[in-house]
Amino acid sequence: MIIYKKITLILIICLIMTSLTGCIKKMADENLLKTVRERGKIIAGVKFDAKPFGFIDQDQKLKGFDVDLIREIAKRVLGDENAVEFQQVTSSNRIFSLISGNVDMVAATMTITSPRQKVIDFSRPYYVAGQAIMVAKDSSVKTLKDLSGRRVIIVLGSTSEINIKQMVPSVKILGFRTYTDAFEALKSGRGDVLTTDDTIIYGFLSENSKYKILKDRLTLEPYGLGFKKAEKTQSFQDAVDSALEQIMQDGTMAKIQRKWTADFIKK
Ligand code: GLU
Repeated sequence: MIIYKKITLILIICLIMTSLTGCIKKMADENLLKTVRERGKIIAGVKFDAKPFGFIDQDQKLKGFDVDLIREIAKRVLGDENAVEFQQVTSSNRIFSLISGNVDMVAATMTITSPRQKVIDFSRPYYVAGQAIMVAKDSSVKTLKDLSGRRVIIVLGSTSEINIKQMVPSVKILGFRTYTDAFEALKSGRGDVLTTDDTIIYGFLSENSKYKILKDRLTLEPYGLGFKKAEKTQSFQDAVDSALEQIMQDGTMAKIQRKWTADFIKK
């Protein structure tokens, strides 16, 4: 009899413990949408030097396609397009910024790829760029074939780095952390060509007439918004995904695209 009582007592204690740990886990898993609402702003990672997607303009203001897109999302999720704190991310730290929770989301010329999908989640594609090659107007490099043995400038952590190594294994890679540094390296003659998305190349060309973009597009680069892969961030991701859906349906995306690509991107 005493044994039965003991077992019942142990079972009751176990039940209480299980529900307690459940409660604690729930508190730790506080959903991100709730956190963002309480905080009153979305913390978004964007590029600061990838014109026309995310860049600091002459008036020292952060502007661009990705910046406008985030503002439209903030308008729909929080009711205020200014309810955003922008943080600079680079191609090599944007995934870490998401995983570490430094930012709630990333809109940073980021291509949706399967290796990246193993680590983070993406929204549906919102823009499709293509990898291209940028050279000085008087360069003898005309196509991909001419790259053999050449010094090719890339930004570390970009798809362009992986793609070009696969396409022309004999290239000499010169890697930089930022697009500003990469372009400086091209201007100073440290590299022969720079390869990245056509979008970003057009941004450089808008400021420098000594360079051109080669005709070929080497890849398709569908851009997606990036999110941390976790149960507690799912609520926020769902809210952003449905905001993006609206933005794409109601003509807002077309407007953003016209605004930022008409002046820069000549396809
Ligand atoms: N879209 C490419 C990528 O995600 C290149 C541009 C970038 O570095 O963000 O890697």
